[in-house]
Amino acid sequence: MIRRRRTHQVNVGGVRIGGDAPVVVQSMTGTYTYEIDKTVAEIRKLADAGCELVRVAVPQKRDTDALPHILEQSPVPIVADVHFHFERAMEAIEHGIHKIRLNPGNIKDRKQVDRVIAACRERAIPIRVGVNEGSVVERSDKDRRAAQKAALSEDPHEQLIALMIHVLEDYLRIFDDNDFGDVVLSLKSIDPVVVIDAYRAAAKRFDLPLHLGLTHAGPPETGRIRSIAALGTLLASGIGDTIRISYAADPVYEVEDAHELLCSLKLRNRVEPELIACPTCGRIEIDLIQLVADVRRKLTSIKTPVKVAVMGCVVNGPGEAEGADVAVFAGRGKGIIYVQGEQKRTVAEGEMLDALYDECEAFADRVERGEAKLSSGAVNILPPDPLPRSDGSVPLSVVE
Ligand code: SF4
Repeated sequence: MIRRRRTHQVNVGGVRIGGDAPVVVQSMTGTYTYEIDKTVAEIRKLADAGCELVRVAVPQKRDTDALPHILEQSPVPIVADVHFHFERAMEAIEHGIHKIRLNPGNIKDRKQVDRVIAACRERAIPIRVGVNEGSVVERSDKDRRAAQKAALSEDPHEQLIALMIHVLEDYLRIFDDNDFGDVVLSLKSIDPVVVIDAYRAAAKRFDLPLHLGLTHAGPPETGRIRSIAALGTLLASGIGDTIRISYAADPVYEVEDAHELLCSLKLRNRVEPELIACPTCGRIEIDLIQLVADVRRKLTSIKTPVKVAVMGCVVNGPGEAEGADVAVFAGRGKGIIYVQGEQKRTVAEGEMLDALYDECEAFADRVERGEAKLSSGAVNILPPDPLPRSDGSVPLSVVE
């Protein structure tokens, strides 16, 4: 069971972040935002994959000019990532954007930040204040000295974390002065250990919702491990209100992996089948890798979170597939299919894929009709009231 840290809640175009809301999945388009049709197509693709918020970059005026057309067609709320020009923030707000992302390293002028905050308040638009390791390392000597003092350490890693927190505190003072609290925070780095420690420090210091992510995680093959190491560690300790996994690839992979991570940690309910498979070993009696790929493809048409196991032999298979709703134990030219522990039928190897699918579909139909229950219960993602504070610590909320 994961106890989530309860944070202030913000509303981004109807999507709640923080408080008792489930962890929100977000991603970012890789298109030029001014290319409206391509950007809308990518937003739709991400939304179809389960993305709940999509960020678009608006480095130029022609990007913010495109926003009304994009907002009109988008099925999910849109976040504008403002880089160096505060005018882009003002234009995006004017066009009805749902959230703004500001980098304290890029927009520093107090009067400009005040104006962005005033415009966001008028339209109830939350702001993400996103600090990146890359932008804080260029800070002034004064900031560095303050961070060194706060870190109480000569260790460069601890000083970096203290500097990131210091930069955030400094910037958030402007928001405090404006009495503006609809803020989401992020503290990204390319280094998963920096990410873990920076967010832990932020979770102790602020009660604002946290947007988790790494910068430049790399291609999915390696970025996946780096992202899951950092985000999984934080989420498992109750930290994180929205996540963006970022890869140098089609952003749909980011959304798929984000959902798998949240479902694995029982922070979100599965809505589609979960496929488990044996890792294969010297007892294998079938081309299991191919079978798993075929089963995975076929199961995409089922929209019930049935747990399906594909096992490579009948020796250890039944024990290892414990907890699966539907399982096949394959080998010696045949497959034995079980449904919730009960042996249903034995089929020839060539019929195994279709037979397994038929049993999965029939079981899913029974679940939908209320005649059967999934073996692992659905997760309650809305936490009840916070646990009582006994020591002044941040309140926790129960997720499961
Ligand atoms: S199910 Fe059989 S083949 Fe697969 S890992 Fe276990 S013992 Fe090996």
